[in-house]
Amino acid sequence: MNITFLGGTGTVTGSKYFIETNTTKILVDCGLYQGYKWLRARNREPLPLDLKSLDAIVLSHAHLDHSGFIPVLYKQGFRGAIYTHPATISLCSILLPDSGHIQEDDANFYKKHKISKHENPEPLYDKETAEACLSLFQAVEFNKAFRIGDIDLVLQSAGHILGAASVILEADGKRVGFSGDVGRPDDIIMYPPKPLPPLDLLLLESTYGNRLHDKEDAYEQLAEIVNSTAKLGGVLLIPSFAVGRTEAVQHMLATLLKRDLIPKLPIYLDSPMAINVFNIYCQHFELNRLSKKQCQDMCNIVAFTKTVDESKALSDLIMPHIIIAGSGMATGGRILHHLKRLIGDYRTTVLFTGYLSGGTRGAKILAGKDNVKIHGKWWPVKARVEVLNGLSGHGDYEDITKWLQSSKLHPKTKIRLVHGEPEASEAMRDHLMQHTKFEVEVANYHEILRL
Ligand SMILES: [Zn+2]
Repeated sequence: MNITFLGGTGTVTGSKYFIETNTTKILVDCGLYQGYKWLRARNREPLPLDLKSLDAIVLSHAHLDHSGFIPVLYKQGFRGAIYTHPATISLCSILLPDSGHIQEDDANFYKKHKISKHENPEPLYDKETAEACLSLFQAVEFNKAFRIGDIDLVLQSAGHILGAASVILEADGKRVGFSGDVGRPDDIIMYPPKPLPPLDLLLLESTYGNRLHDKEDAYEQLAEIVNSTAKLGGVLLIPSFAVGRTEAVQHMLATLLKRDLIPKLPIYLDSPMAINVFNIYCQHFELNRLSKKQCQDMCNIVAFTKTVDESKALSDLIMPHIIIAGSGMATGGRILHHLKRLIGDYRTTVLFTGYLSGGTRGAKILAGKDNVKIHGKWWPVKARVEVLNGLSGHGDYEDITKWLQSSKLHPKTKIRLVHGEPEASEAMRDHLMQHTKFEVEVANYHEILRL
């Protein structure tokens, strides 16, 4: 069996691992590159494989950095099956068309305002293509074995977000695990990731390979931010990831309100996508920690702004309020319009809720840049900028080390680190070499492993 690393190396985006046996070829994950321009340019390059001979895709979870390239392959003619958890199918049916829609919008905006270097900026794919590729998805429950050609597979829960899985496959007498994105043992909404079985090789994510989550209580931090922003008479802007983090923020705000720890400010969920995702979370109680009552409370505290006009009307509000809008890294979506009008006001707080990939607008704002470019113009940053680290959907390096130690891996298991920026993966390797017996290396782009 050969494994080729076609993405998720040296970056947390573009996850794609190509597995070949004598008779079968599959991709595990098919993610979009995001962040730095040189990384995004890879989305326009053809994959070094013959799509006609690709049998199937196995998808770990719905986030676009794992799923967002599927419509590109569909556009190029791929018609094989895409195996994934049913909740991931539900989430992809929202996320992928939305991704197509955002790309069409961006291309139109750049065309209209003539701010692209390209004469005729084209979206990578449109909404229609993203909707069409959903017909290829096939549901596989956790812990149910399935087979593609001569490869045996099973998905097991990885925490992180609804439906997120680690992928375990067996072929040619070897067993390989793909961690996927690994959640936290104490996530506000998701259950802890399931420990791994014995493996010959593990491709392990390393997003937080060089950082530990703030031990500060996330509820206390959020309460302080809401209270001080309200005192200033400002707006709390929360750029939020529609899947997972938005639900966690909503749940935390509902809890704080119930305990009377924050004032009753108007809260707007300005993201049609997050509204749909919220409904999916509430349909899957068995997969998360939320109860029906908690879902109702979360629903009751927010006003949903579905239409563009409702969203625009938020600019008329003068009293302190909270706006939760996508996207989480401020790379697109409605949050951009709110940032443009509010980031130059010292009374505003911008609160990020998770990992910000290098090169994204969110990462630049958090790094303390004086000005930020939105829609081709520079805007001064005067707002307070914070990040709610306690809300990340990824385990930090200590969480992951404990997860590995609770697994059934034997000391001879080889680990290849993926899904991390270079300094994070390097630090994770050093940590694991000191605290475990595994042979650990950082995977390289286009590297081929032969098992
Ligand atoms: Zn993810």
